[in-house]
Amino acid sequence: MDQTIYLDNAATTKISDDVLACMLPYLKDSYGNPSSVYDLGAENKDALTRARHQIAKVLSCEPSCIFFTSGGTESDNWALIGTAESRSHLGKHLITSKIEHHAVLHTCEYLEKRGFEITYLDVDEQGFVKKETLMNALRPDTILVSIMTANNEIGTIQPMAELGEVLKDHPALFHTDAVQAFGQLPVRPENWHVDLLSASSHKFHGPKGIGFLYIRQGVDLPSFLHGGKQEKGRRAGTENVASIIGMGRAAEIAAETMEERVQKETLLRDYMISRIEKEIPFCHLNGPRKHRLANNVNFCFSFAEGETLVVLLDMEGICCSGGSACTSGQAASSHVLRAIHLDPDTARGALRFTLSESTTREEIDYTVEALKKVLLQSRRMNSSFLGFMKWNRRR
Ligand code: PLP
Repeated sequence: MDQTIYLDNAATTKISDDVLACMLPYLKDSYGNPSSVYDLGAENKDALTRARHQIAKVLSCEPSCIFFTSGGTESDNWALIGTAESRSHLGKHLITSKIEHHAVLHTCEYLEKRGFEITYLDVDEQGFVKKETLMNALRPDTILVSIMTANNEIGTIQPMAELGEVLKDHPALFHTDAVQAFGQLPVRPENWHVDLLSASSHKFHGPKGIGFLYIRQGVDLPSFLHGGKQEKGRRAGTENVASIIGMGRAAEIAAETMEERVQKETLLRDYMISRIEKEIPFCHLNGPRKHRLANNVNFCFSFAEGETLVVLLDMEGICCSGGSACTSGQAASSHVLRAIHLDPDTARGALRFTLSESTTREEIDYTVEALKKVLLQSRRMNSSFLGFMKWNRRR
């Protein structure tokens, strides 16, 4: 293949041409500040209103529930810290799951240091949070439950409506990190009894550094950034107009194309999974086969290091992601893979491929062939693999 094969769409996506074209006028000629009263400002204000409507339509909610932020991380921080600070008089207990993104988990650690108590829910072997587990963890002093809609590593889609039912009559706020879900499945905060929802534009072919927090009407979340009166006084700072316009258009396109795109991605995802399972020995699919993001393929390959495979595949022109976090030069297996009870040795061989609408069957075929080649290469250098093969031959 002459071109790079990009299979890391959970990390970020390519901005669409249509989105970029919508943004350009606001980076060049229409540069007014939306807070200014003259026409050049007012046309920017109108553009923000249009983007807010576009996003609200996708979520089936009122536009006044949408607050622009700098992305998923800020939205998660705002939801958690804002709730903790404003509701500490009602209790100091929060609940989350063991497989959240670090934008949630590290914020929880920050809150723990400030006297809050966090319960980290176990998940089952496929990454699902059981409704009973949540029920058992709820306490009268629980002020927030934060469970991600879909997992960024293994693609598990949580039973959001079921979890929301559990929380419906409890005073705790329900936050969901929908960063990976938005644009991949119908995201419905009102049907799920969700009070706060985070999303990030660069995961659905919009620009980076822009996202939003949905805040249900009537939920009093204090401002996270202090300064001007933007976003009805709840999120200060001159709006990133061009990016907000881009995100609005990207959200609209994501909704319009969702059905067909998800169908296509699901077929390709299952084709890739079945080829890997049939043709590559000593591998294990991470995450569920059903209720899985349409674009997510995540495998552990025994007798291999995921990070090494990422580099070898890069040399074959393929972008994908390993399943481990590199801490001071040592590859530690991911917290998600540990939470689904994978042993650390197996988890070190994790690789994640995330597809997009433009992924083709030829690209998948090329990737599977390349994967077979690099795995053979790296397993031949792996002493445990050589020992295992020798032992097997002797039997
Ligand atoms: N939450 C999830 C599930 C994510 O996958 C990511 C990014 O990978 C984030 C939050 C952070 O989003 P952002 O990159 O917009 O800060």
